[in-house]
Amino acid sequence: MLKRIGEFSQDILNSPNSATRRPVVDAHLESNIRGLFVIGDLAGAPVVKLAMEHGNNVAEYIAALPDARGAEAGAYDLIVVGSGASGLNAALVAQERGLKVLVLEKGKIANTIEDFPEGKWVYAEPDSRPAKGKLWLDGARKEDLVTRWNQIVRDNRLAVHTEEGVTGIVKRKDGYFDVKTAKSEYRARRVVLATGQRGNPRKLGVPGEDLERVYHRLYSPGHYHDEDILVVGGGNSAIEAALTLAERNRVTLSYRGAEFSRVFKDNERQIREAAAAGRVQVIFNSQVKKFSAKTYTLEVQEGGGKATRELSYDHAFVLAGAELPTGFLRSLGIRLENDWTGNPWAAIALTLTTLFGLWLFGGKTGIPSFAGLGWAGGLLALASLGGLIFTGARGSRFAWLGCSFLICYTVYAAKLGTNFEFWPYRGWGYKALSVLGRPWSFWYTVLYTLAMTIFGIQAMKRWGFDKKDRFQIWRYTSLISFQWIFFFLVPEFLFQWAVKYQWVGELAKDPVFAGQAWRSYGIVYAWPLFFYTFFGSPHQIWIVWGVLLTFVLIPLLVLTNGKRYCSWICGCGGLAETLGDRWRHNAPKGKTAIKWELMGNAVLAAAAVITVMMVARDAVEIFRARAGTALEWYRLIVDVWLVGILPVTLYPFFGGKVWCRYWCPLAKMMQLTGAIFTRFRVSRFAIHANDKCIACGECTRNCQVGIDVMGFALKQQELNNANSSCIGCGICVSVCPMDVLSFARVEKPKLIQIEARKAAA
Ligand SMILES: Cc1cc2nc3c(=O)[nH]c(=O)nc-3n(C[C@H](O)[C@H](O)[C@H](O)COP(=O)(O)OP(=O)(O)OC[C@H]3O[C@@H](n4cnc5c(N)ncnc54)[C@H](O)[C@@H]3O)c2cc1C
Ligand code: SF4
Ligand code: SF4
Repeated sequence: MLKRIGEFSQDILNSPNSATRRPVVDAHLESNIRGLFVIGDLAGAPVVKLAMEHGNNVAEYIAALPDARGAEAGAYDLIVVGSGASGLNAALVAQERGLKVLVLEKGKIANTIEDFPEGKWVYAEPDSRPAKGKLWLDGARKEDLVTRWNQIVRDNRLAVHTEEGVTGIVKRKDGYFDVKTAKSEYRARRVVLATGQRGNPRKLGVPGEDLERVYHRLYSPGHYHDEDILVVGGGNSAIEAALTLAERNRVTLSYRGAEFSRVFKDNERQIREAAAAGRVQVIFNSQVKKFSAKTYTLEVQEGGGKATRELSYDHAFVLAGAELPTGFLRSLGIRLENDWTGNPWAAIALTLTTLFGLWLFGGKTGIPSFAGLGWAGGLLALASLGGLIFTGARGSRFAWLGCSFLICYTVYAAKLGTNFEFWPYRGWGYKALSVLGRPWSFWYTVLYTLAMTIFGIQAMKRWGFDKKDRFQIWRYTSLISFQWIFFFLVPEFLFQWAVKYQWVGELAKDPVFAGQAWRSYGIVYAWPLFFYTFFGSPHQIWIVWGVLLTFVLIPLLVLTNGKRYCSWICGCGGLAETLGDRWRHNAPKGKTAIKWELMGNAVLAAAAVITVMMVARDAVEIFRARAGTALEWYRLIVDVWLVGILPVTLYPFFGGKVWCRYWCPLAKMMQLTGAIFTRFRVSRFAIHANDKCIACGECTRNCQVGIDVMGFALKQQELNNANSSCIGCGICVSVCPMDVLSFARVEKPKLIQIEARKAAA
């Protein structure tokens, strides 16, 4: 049981770790080890032009440092590890700025591009950004690009040691780095790590994988003839290799999945045709368990059981993609995103001690022997909070989780009203936070609105102004405006003024209407997110509006815009999109994380049942006690914990959309409505992809609701509300460096691309 709980907790904690996990770097791309920079693909620049930009920027930054030049005798000012687009550009720019530079490369110059299939066209996207630095870049065949780069290296007399991979980097006490290779050891004042992500093939980890006839790359398919060949993998490289090798050999393709899910549409068609024609034997749900000299052992899942086959082979190609060289990075001491560092028990103890201290501080313990210990309690709370911050600053992520919980819990636990607060704030928290003659609930709204404004402007700059994306500028303007007008000014001021100055005519004289300013949240918040509209003796106007909003306007919005209510209008989604934006890449990913979305069905069902009970109670006086109890429980579980405390606590660790994605009943209702519209082919909302995806994973990484957008893009499959919980935020569209994705249907992608290029030229 304990083991299961442990595994489940591990699953949750590690759920944000998609294939696009990265080392933690600051704005100058410097890692947690001062003087050691991480750039290019490894640090999230997914295409050549952006990798070059990283190289250029890091070299400019280092060159501007006061001690950039004049390293001690025998040492370099800068060692660059990796000679791809980012590393070469960094080295060339740094050398031009007068630094003594060495590049260490484990293969050939531009090894990743050199390994591309023969004649592959390398796109120079994104068109909107100029190439920076000294490397040449334009759309070109990979052979031409590599030739030009080799020439540039020669022309600039750049020192590049090829076939000399770096095996270790150690920072010495004097601040210099020892950089170790199999051949030698070098010293440098600074190091730039530009090793990319693609050069680290994923291994199966089975016996015999290191045999001579088992490869992890396919260099020359023409070399093999009339052989039994095994290809392992279910991605594009495995399928392309199987198809090419099948022209002259007998090929078996083994894949552990039940179907190909992340492959180009065309590749999928070709492999299906080849399998149907018997040119390639495709074995799904299969795993290689062992390679021997002439045979391999394959475990296949068949009809609920497992069967083991012993098959012969001449050569095997394990092409199961590449993975972040986590072992290598960790051995250098580089911190990775989402590493759950620190001691969880210490963080829990410090968090509870802080709350205990606050309990004493509040003076409402009701225990006589604790009376007079208020200041001691305050000091205890301060000391333990300080302990959390201190351990957090020293790298404990669990300590930051504790801090985040304390902030969110305090805000909500005290907001429930005098004598209704949670422990340890019961009897004093609400009053203590109600300052300047205004209640804490008012200050809470002010804080919320300010947070959305400040972080909304930051997010608008990041996605709107910096990327020149008008869609995002309008989206953030809409979110901030809805918050200010409908979730702050109207309930806090305008409603009262409308009554006072009789802007609402006769309604102002009706005490049922005039006395319930809080119902104005229902102007924008629809049922079942705000189900109070329909019970507790509302004025008729709220019921009419509530029905119109929920059953006419929201479905119309879903029909035309999918679930954009969540990313353009809603205040809950608004905080997630603004304050939570910086952590959007931490959204849980994978099939299990998507299954958890079913929790929303339970909340929707509970909201529907309670609404019916409450309306029945008001109308015909049945369910009297039960309805009240059910409502109390719903308030406690949903309105306080699931909307308020838990999701915001988890923003930095699981992104901003925990509530919206897993528990919001309105989001779930829109999802179901959108799915129906899509199935009946009347929905106007979908994301389409053209054929230029390079599988960089940026779209998947930045999707705040954890959708595997790349999986859709590769297959050029329409992404809609029948197959995903997309909220139409458009970040995947903005972030794609190849302009693959769009909300508009692209009928003839290739022609449109060419026309766009001509127009740009
Ligand atoms: C199939 C495919 C198609 C693509 N198509 C395009 C495209 O059309 N247009 C585009 O702009 N981008 C494309 N890309 C992306 C592009 O390849 C990368 O964005 C770019 O190569 C990143 O450059 P980089 O310098 O960060 O890393 P890389 O180019 O991967 O360079 C890393 C270098 O480090 C070396 N290295 C690794 N480990 C060590 C070590 N321990 N010691 C020394 N050296 C080491 C490697 O050998 C390699 O030479 C494509 C990628 C793939 C996989
Ligand atoms: S798929 Fe794209 S538009 Fe939809 S929620 Fe994810 S990032 Fe936003
Ligand atoms: S669609 Fe996604 S994976 Fe494909 S190129 Fe664009 S961002 Fe990268």
